[in-house]
Amino acid sequence: MTIQPDSPTKLPRYSRQRMRLNQLAMCLILAAPGLGVQAEEQVVNLYSARHYSTDEALYAGFTKATGIKINRVDADDAGIIARLKAEGSASPADVILLVDAARLWKGETEGLFLPIQSKPLEAAIPPQLRAKPTADGKTAWYGLSTRARIVVYDTAKVRKEDVDTYEKLAEPANKGRVCIRSGSHPYNLSLFGSLTEHMGAEKTEAWLKALVGNMARSPKGGDTDQIKGVASGECAIAITNSYYLARMLRSSNATERGMAERVGVVFPNQSSWGTHINVAGGAVARHAKNTGNAVKFLEYLAGAEAQAYFANGNNEWPAALGIKLDNPALKAMTGAGFKSELIPINTVGMNQVRVQQMLDRVGFK
Ligand code: FE
Repeated sequence: MTIQPDSPTKLPRYSRQRMRLNQLAMCLILAAPGLGVQAEEQVVNLYSARHYSTDEALYAGFTKATGIKINRVDADDAGIIARLKAEGSASPADVILLVDAARLWKGETEGLFLPIQSKPLEAAIPPQLRAKPTADGKTAWYGLSTRARIVVYDTAKVRKEDVDTYEKLAEPANKGRVCIRSGSHPYNLSLFGSLTEHMGAEKTEAWLKALVGNMARSPKGGDTDQIKGVASGECAIAITNSYYLARMLRSSNATERGMAERVGVVFPNQSSWGTHINVAGGAVARHAKNTGNAVKFLEYLAGAEAQAYFANGNNEWPAALGIKLDNPALKAMTGAGFKSELIPINTVGMNQVRVQQMLDRVGFK
C-alpha cells in the first residue's frame, strides 16, 4: 500500500490513524478507575440558593486551594429545585447549596441528590445536621451552617419573660403584638415542623391558630422587615433568623445598627428543648458530571477554614464542632452561648406537608 500525504501540512493517513488510536488509548487510561489520574475537567458547577454576598470569599478559597473553578448559578431554593427537575439527566449541576432544612428534605425526596460517602464530611458534621443515612450507608445532604430562629421584642412594651418560649408568643398577653413573615416561607415551615416534633401536631395547630390571632399585621416582608417593624414600633414582637439581626448589628449604616441595638433579643425555650435551629446545606446533584470535584467542594465547605467563614462572614454558626469564632455580633447576641434543639433536622423537613395543611386550616398566609 502506498501512503501519500494529503498535503504537505497534513500528516500521512497512517499517522493520523495511529494518533487516533493513541488518543483512544489515552482516553481509556484516563477513564480507568484506580490509576489516580483525574479524568474530570477541573470545574464544579454550582447551583446556589445562598443569597449572601460575603460567600464570594468561600468560593475563591476553594479555587485557590484546589485549582478547581466554580461556575455558579444563583436562584432561590424553589427555583433551583424546579430547574433541576426540568433539566433532568441533562442538568450540568454538580453541587446544590440550599438554605433550609425543609428544602433540603424536598430535594432529597424528589431524587435530585446523589447520596455520597465521605469520611471528612462524616467526621465534621454531627449526625443530627444531615440527611438520614440511606440503606447502603450514604448521605444525601449535609448541613454546613446553622442559624437560630429567634425572637426580638420592644423592650418598652414587652417583658422578656412574656416571650422566652415559642409557646408564649401565642398567649393572650401578646395579642396584637406579633410580626412574622409568611407562614409558608421555608424558614417558618421548618420552625413549625420543629414545634410539631416537640409538641405534637394537635398542639402545634392550636398554637398556630392563636398566633394568627396575636398578629400585629398580616404577614409581609422578610425577616429584616420584621426586626425593623419592632424598631419602628409597628410590631412589639417579631420572629427572625439570627443572622439578619447580626448583620444589622454589624451594619455600616448607623440607622440600621441603631434599630438592631434598640430591640431586645431572646433565644427561646432555654429551659425546655432549646431554640429551633435550621441549616443551610449542600448535596451532590443526582446527575453530576464532576462528582469527584463536587465531593471535594462539599468537603472544603465542611473544613475549618470555610466553617469559620460561615460564622464570621455571614453571621451563621459552623455546623462542624470545635471551630473558633470571632464574631462580635454573635457574641453580643448570645453571651455565653445558648441551648439549641437536638432533634434530627431531617424530621423537621419531613413535617412540612402537614404543616402547610395546618397553615391553610388556620388561615396563616
Ligand atoms: Fe435568609
